[in-house]
Amino acid sequence: AAKAAGRGRVVVFDPAMRAAAVEQRELERELQGALAGGQLRLVYQPVIDLADEAVVGFEALLRWRSPALGSIPPDRFVPLAEDLGLIGEIGSWVLREACTTAAAWRRQDPAADLTIAVNVSAVQLASPDLVGHLAEALRVSGLPASALVLEVTETALVRDPDAAADQLAALRALGVRLALDDFGTGYSSLSYLRQFTVDILKIDRSFISTIQGAALPPIVRGLIDLGRTLDLEIVAEGVELEVQRDQLRNARCDLAQGYLFAAPLEQADAGALLGRRPAPLR
Ligand code: C2E
Ligand code: MG
Ligand code: MG
Ligand code: MG
Repeated sequence: AAKAAGRGRVVVFDPAMRAAAVEQRELERELQGALAGGQLRLVYQPVIDLADEAVVGFEALLRWRSPALGSIPPDRFVPLAEDLGLIGEIGSWVLREACTTAAAWRRQDPAADLTIAVNVSAVQLASPDLVGHLAEALRVSGLPASALVLEVTETALVRDPDAAADQLAALRALGVRLALDDFGTGYSSLSYLRQFTVDILKIDRSFISTIQGAALPPIVRGLIDLGRTLDLEIVAEGVELEVQRDQLRNARCDLAQGYLFAAPLEQADAGALLGRRPAPLR
């Protein structure tokens, strides 16, 4: 008990901890004004068809550059936006922005039938406003619902599975497709597939990075076979090596994203890829 109390006292007076707390408060204060201040933007990572390496769509990824604090990664500020009650507003901006950009790209290159994927956090998924925000984004942008993919993580489903199942059904009823993001990293991935109807499995980068040589690791093979058996589209996340691309293509994984093909791109650079028609590799 003495030790615990001692440790408590150390925490209170530790200058490093105090500095971190001050920094955290500054981060919170800056984030409050980020959306209105025009500090948020989306970047777009190409999604590649492994059969012919054509760009078939993009994943929208949020970026925040604060004039005071510099660039803060989404893994850091999205949870904070959830805690501060800002994610609803930010998330609905992300939806409108991504749908508007994708609709313009589809008009520019109608033959490509491009898709756009948008990440939806746990708090957004739990919100009764999400379906309305989504319907509004589709209406205002003119994007067909079938061109939009919403990416949810297993952790977003675990909090209240019954409510999540209802929400996913309402979203799918609008005609959008659902992807299970970071698949395989949750506690009980398989039970989610039974409880929730999704259209796409995104195999997490931590599995893709185990592909290092000529043999396909059995777990990766199993994840692809599982997706295929359930008639889901399969996307490999974080493809960085040619051997990974080749193994995934041989295993009939459908789609891929990763630095091997392209990092997330500024909107103009992503738009410049449109109209490229690579010849099939085989
Ligand atoms: P995620 O949806 O799983 O996104 C994939 C992350 O992997 C992105 O990080 C992307 O930049 C990165 N990545 C892509 N290819 C590679 C690769 O080949 N190697 C490596 N090492 N990384 C790669 P990012 O942009 O930092 O986003 C991190 C997470 O933040 C996302 O994970 C997503 O969960 C969340 N996020 C991003 N944008 C949004 C948003 O608009 N709304 C919400 N709710 N969450 C978002
Ligand atoms: Mg994602
Ligand atoms: Mg992911
Ligand atoms: Mg992730």
